[in-house]
Amino acid sequence: MSTEKTTEPAAPLHFLEEIVEADLAAGKHKTILTRFPPEPNGYLHVGHATSICLNFGLAQKYGGATNLRFDDTNPVTEETEYVDSIIADVRWLGFEPAQVLYASDYFPQLYEWAKVLIMKGKAYVDFSTAEEIAALKGTPTEPGKDSPYRNTSPEENLALFERMKAGEFPDGHCTLRAKIDMASPNMIMRDPLLYRIKHAHHHRTGDDWCIYPMYDWAHGQSDSIEHITHSICTLEFAPHRELYDWCIEQLGIYPSKQYEFARRNLSYTVTSKRKLKLLVEDNYVRGWDDPRMPTIAAFRRRGYTPESIREFCDRIGVGKRENLADMSLLEFFVREDLNKRALRRFAVLNPLKVVVTNYPEGQVEWLETENNPEDPGAGKRQLAFSRELYIEQDDFMENPPPKYFRLSPGGMVRLKSAFILKCDEVKKDASGNVTELHCSYVPESRSGQDTSGLKVQGVIHWLSAPHAKTAEVRLYDRLFQSEDPASEDDFKKTINPHSLHIVENALIEPALAEGNTGDHFQFTRLGYFCVDPDSVPGKPVFNRTVTLKDTWAKEQKGKT
Ligand code: ATP
Ligand code: MG
Repeated sequence: MSTEKTTEPAAPLHFLEEIVEADLAAGKHKTILTRFPPEPNGYLHVGHATSICLNFGLAQKYGGATNLRFDDTNPVTEETEYVDSIIADVRWLGFEPAQVLYASDYFPQLYEWAKVLIMKGKAYVDFSTAEEIAALKGTPTEPGKDSPYRNTSPEENLALFERMKAGEFPDGHCTLRAKIDMASPNMIMRDPLLYRIKHAHHHRTGDDWCIYPMYDWAHGQSDSIEHITHSICTLEFAPHRELYDWCIEQLGIYPSKQYEFARRNLSYTVTSKRKLKLLVEDNYVRGWDDPRMPTIAAFRRRGYTPESIREFCDRIGVGKRENLADMSLLEFFVREDLNKRALRRFAVLNPLKVVVTNYPEGQVEWLETENNPEDPGAGKRQLAFSRELYIEQDDFMENPPPKYFRLSPGGMVRLKSAFILKCDEVKKDASGNVTELHCSYVPESRSGQDTSGLKVQGVIHWLSAPHAKTAEVRLYDRLFQSEDPASEDDFKKTINPHSLHIVENALIEPALAEGNTGDHFQFTRLGYFCVDPDSVPGKPVFNRTVTLKDTWAKEQKGKT
């Protein structure tokens, strides 16, 4: 038995946990079953991640289960590529669905139930055009008017509906509508559409159907078929709840219940599949998994970990009000997680050659350094030190301001895990650009065995020139300049033209050349990086996942 005490106070319950606890305590359910119901018309984004963490998280907490159900009732926009990516993304986030299901599997049942509704006199085939239906709908303050087809007999409606299914009518020729209440204060209840005609090929049912159920006829019944106890959706579906309940009640089937929470939006990006698709199709980004995108696939490629995304979703919690979560909060959790797991490595993005004039030519010595000071189990590695080195151009200044602690003419700096270096001479080309530094090292200043007595403030990273390998490094900035691009007239106008900066020939230590796609590293002083799938032998590609510190807001001020 564990004697360990947990010191962390339990997080307060959010409103959905309170509902579930109350339902379980009242014996309403023995166990809970939730579902995540994506429409396979795009890749999942950070908003979906919230919904996944919420649905799977609730079920896990209360010993229940979660189905992944594709809401594939619209044949036109759906593709198998999206289905596959969604399954992969849910699993990558760390969740295993109890079942992977498709609303399209329920088409025969939904059709039978529509006929039940017709025979109860609760649905009718309407030959009005979309415009005519809209014109009779009324306004929130004025009741609507009856369609001329509202009083057709059940038998006649049944025959018409069967003819709709048999393909006798062209697209849009008629619809099946529920017969509810044209004066309802809830506009959704004014004889909503249940079926429409669409002669279109479906990714799973092929050409079996030319009538397709609307969301309102498919969703609640699918929940009911699966005995979903808590059907959680975003706030815009709140007005649909009345219809959700009405359909289930008319059919007398298992009473699943709908609950709503506020959508999760993230600052400096958009969370709408339609908008994300535009970015892909119009080549603003390189694909759905371009590391600048807010999709789960892009987060993975960029180097965000599932743990950090889950932590972000959990800590923010769920609410009833629309909110814009701060991108830097997500980055905070990414940093926190990578700090624990990423191996430290040296890389130089903009190299400046250094000749150590008092170091023998051809000599190499190996200096030990830690792989991760946060994790002693990560071990140590050897760095080659030789007469020719590279440092960052940024770590040298010819005319430094006061309190500049890096290298400058006549100044000293410590090379991390190596020696103290003194800059003796600056070499320039014909146009005055610094091309090379001639320096001397202090042999008795070796890190860990320093007997030099010198006090040096600055510590910089470096590489041995003959040992360094090259790599492509991709640095990312926010994809949008506006904090809330969706609130702008045209979200595309706020796209940041400098969101990708490619360093073609960065230098890396040899240990980095052997990473596998997805491996995480901290490049000392430069940030966290991850091996990109574009890597080829001899030319690895790294994505900067996130900088070491949150300096983004400060840098923006500097730019203006
Ligand atoms: P989009 O506008 O991006 O197409 P959607 O709601 O149409 O989003 P679906 O595939 O239908 O996307 O969504 C699947 C589930 O994810 C739904 O339960 C939906 O409510 C939820 N969801 C979608 N976007 C968000 C979001 N931004 N925040 C929280 N949950 C979301
Ligand atoms: Mg949708």
